[in-house]
Formats: sequence, C-alpha cells, structure tokens
Amino acid sequence: MAKTATPAENAQLKDIISHAKEYGFVYPSSEIYDGLQAVYDYGAYGVELKNNLKRLWWETMTRVQDNIVGIDAAIFMHPTTWKASGHVDSFNDPMIDNKDSKKRYRADVLVEEHAAVFERSGDVEKANSLTGALARMLEAEDLAGVRDLIINEGIKCPISGTSNWTDVRQFNLMFSTQVGSVAEDASTIYLRPETAQGIFVNFLNVQKTARMKVPFGIAQIGKAFRNEIVARQFIFRMREFEQMEMQFFVRPGTELEWYKVWAETRMNWHLALGTPVEKLRKHDHEKLAHYANAAMDIEYDFPFGFKEVEGIHSRTDFDLKSHQEFSKKKQQYFDPEVNQNYIPYVIETSIGADRLFLLTLCNAFTEENTEEKSRTYLKFHPAIAPVKAAILPITKKDGLPEKGKEIVELLKYDFNIIYEDAASIGKRYTRQDLIGTPFCIAVDHQTLEDNTVTIRHRDTTEQERVPISELHGRIAEATSFRRVFEKL
Ligand code: ATP
Repeated sequence: MAKTATPAENAQLKDIISHAKEYGFVYPSSEIYDGLQAVYDYGAYGVELKNNLKRLWWETMTRVQDNIVGIDAAIFMHPTTWKASGHVDSFNDPMIDNKDSKKRYRADVLVEEHAAVFERSGDVEKANSLTGALARMLEAEDLAGVRDLIINEGIKCPISGTSNWTDVRQFNLMFSTQVGSVAEDASTIYLRPETAQGIFVNFLNVQKTARMKVPFGIAQIGKAFRNEIVARQFIFRMREFEQMEMQFFVRPGTELEWYKVWAETRMNWHLALGTPVEKLRKHDHEKLAHYANAAMDIEYDFPFGFKEVEGIHSRTDFDLKSHQEFSKKKQQYFDPEVNQNYIPYVIETSIGADRLFLLTLCNAFTEENTEEKSRTYLKFHPAIAPVKAAILPITKKDGLPEKGKEIVELLKYDFNIIYEDAASIGKRYTRQDLIGTPFCIAVDHQTLEDNTVTIRHRDTTEQERVPISELHGRIAEATSFRRVFEKL
C-alpha cells in the first residue's frame, strides 16, 4: 500500500529535484514559459545517464540473453491496434473534482492515501477494508460507490479542505490527434500509451525474419504518452515518458514458470546495478488486469514511499489473439518440437526509463557530514556514470594543459571525459562529485618527469599515483557493463 511521505522525505525529494536542475540532469520542459506540467527535459549529464541506463538495459536483453532481439516501432499505429488492445475502451482512470478548489484528483488515489494513514497509525484492518472495498467497486465499475466511499470517509480536498466533490467519472488516458491534411479525410490516431503493442503487431515479422524459435523475446525502448490526471512527484509520473519493454513468447502452459524466471531475473538486475536489497520489494497484484493471469511490480523505496518501478506481467495470449481477431490475420507459431500450431503466451517486463533514472538519482544522492568534511556527491555505479573521468591539470602553466590534453586524446574515443583547467583543484573535485564522476585525474609537475598522474576516487576521496599507461585499462575495468552482467 502507498505510504505518504513524511516532511523529511519530501525535503529529500526537493533536494534531489533542485540538484538535478542545478547540475544539468533534469529541467522542467519549456521553462522560460513557466514549464509544462509533467513534462521534463534532460540536460548534459542527464542525457548521458539516461542513455547509459537504456544501453545497459538493451544490452542485458539483446546480448546477455541469446534469445531476445530488438525492434524500433513507430509511435503512431493503426487506430484499430488500440481497439484490439483494449485501450480505447478501458485505459481509464477514475477522476473526481473538488468543486471549491477546482482541483482534479484520481478517486482511487484519494482512497488509497486515506487508507495509508490508517495503516501508518497501526489500524491495518481498517486500511485493508478500505482498499478491499475500493478494489471491488472498481472491478464492478461502481463509480457512484467510490464517490460514496470518499464522502462517507470524510476525505477532504487538501487545497480547499472541503468534501464538496463531483461525481466520479472515467477518464481515458490516451492522447489523440488527427492524420491527414484535409478535415474530411482526417482520422483520429493516438500517441501510443505503451510500447508493447508495437511488439505484438510485429510478432510474426520478427519471428520469421530473425528466425526465432519459441521461447524468444522482443525488446523495445521508446516514447509513450499518457494524459495522467495526477502529475506529481517529478519524473515519477510524466505525460511523455520512455518505456523499456520486453515481450517473451512462450509455449502455452509454460507461462507461469517463465513468469517466475523473469521476476527473479529482473530483480537481480536491479541488485547488480547496486540498488540495496532493503530498498526493493516485490508486490504481487491482487486485482489482475483483464489480460493477465499473474502480475507483480518491483517497487523501490522512493523518498515518497515504496512505488512501482517495473511491472512483470503474464499476459496470456490476450494481445496476439485479439490482434488476430481484429486484423483477421493469423498470429500463430508452428512449434516443430511439439508439431503444433499455437498462439504463444507472453511474459512482459516493462520498466520506465525515467522512473529508473529517478531511482538511480535517489540511490546515488549522498550527503556526507563528518567532523572532517561535509560534501554532497552522486554515487553512481561507474558503468552508468555520465562522465567517467575528469582530467585536471593542477595549473594552467608549465605545459600541464598540453599534457592533460594528451591524456584526453588517449581516453576520449572510449569514454566520456571532461577536461578542466580553471579554478582550484578542490573546487574542481567538488564539481565532479556533484555530477558523480568516479575518477578525477590530476596532472602535475611530476607527470612531466615520470608520466604518472594522481587518481582521486569519488567515493573514498582517496588518491593514488598511477602511470598514464594504466589509465585506459583501469577505467575500462571499472566502467565496463561486464561488471554488472557478471552479477546477473
Ligand atoms: P502506475 O500504476 O504507476 O501508473 P502502471 O501500472 O500504469 O504504473 P504500466 O502500464 O505497467 O504502469 O507501465 C510500465 C512501466 O512504465 C511502469 O512500471 C513505470 O516504470 C512506467 N510508467 C508508467 N506510467 C508512467 C508515467 N506516467 N511516467 C513515467 N513512467 C511511467
């Protein structure tokens, strides 16, 4: 159940948001026009971090696994796709407005947050009875019942402080637009709300052309769009975001075994990246979506409580079967091992790149206050750090910049490197800590004599003297994806 954040936790999120903006990770979209709600842009270090996370996910799927290939489908799809997938009819959230504040809320979230208050005060029974009642009403599409629950429980709008609520209405989360230049010829299409359907409609194309045999998977990274009613908590819930999804096609009857395999594999991936085990938990869905026969979330303990980062769903043959019905094109696979035609069952793993980014940022954000020093740094796993090393000549004279630039030449084709020769060396170390650079390499007068440099390690601030000839090997060793993959 959702836990509401304490003031200290909210303060931590605020610190993370302002750090992200101040040091080039994430800015509000079109900020000079006061921004656009729930839309964000990534800055110089943000885009590097996000690309590294996406590449790590992609290579885990398509390289470490030998039976998964990738695709890149378009955002626009034939509108019937979304009829077949169920999104036109049921991709809804229940919303409610407060008539005094004119603020809109997700009715289910209001009840869940109310229940969380009881849970925190130890009244777990009451909390469970509220969430149970909510689940039953949503299942039965009893929106009037949800409104009664809100009123009877005395749930108030946090802005106006009143219970002057409208009816609860369903709100479809898909954005639509028109294709075709002439009004009469135009037809409504949607911005995809998930990347998965681009995989399903290409199932046979990929299976045939990449000569895949069940069990096999198709992975995709791409933008998705949802007109979220409640857009809060920074990049946790955005209206334009990126998903990394993998659909794994299996023989019917084996899906629950594969579901377990993928649940474990994905949890291990998060642990291998350095997320502490106590910050992660599994949450099994009690109420299953219409297409699923098992589903769980991997949740992370964000400053605002444990929340979903990734979903693992056993989607049965729902999507392929439905596309077969709507398109009238067979979506079957011939399995030579059992000499049978069938529609494969599917296990999906689905993670938001932006949510993973937020998890990574929260995990890395470290404030160290000891008697000797006080500093803030981002403790990224070196494999995903936006900048791998900073080359820092200690003065701007005596040929040190030239030597520093020689080192940049040695490294820059394989690693993202920063060169900086202005300001004191201490200030430059601090700047690199703030963007999470694992290695600072100081070039000094001794370097000119014996071709050695000082490496300063971000997490310990310890320094060691090493020959320039060893730099490439050391950085490669520390930043290689292999270090993550080997733990899987
Ligand atoms: P939630 O319950 O948080 O709305 P969901 O169950 O609707 O999420 P899915 O449809 O399973 O999410 O989407 C898979 C993943 O995509 C989520 O685990 C999350 O990481 C990401 N995601 C979904 N919606 C958003 C969003 N609005 N902004 C950012 N990431 C999102």
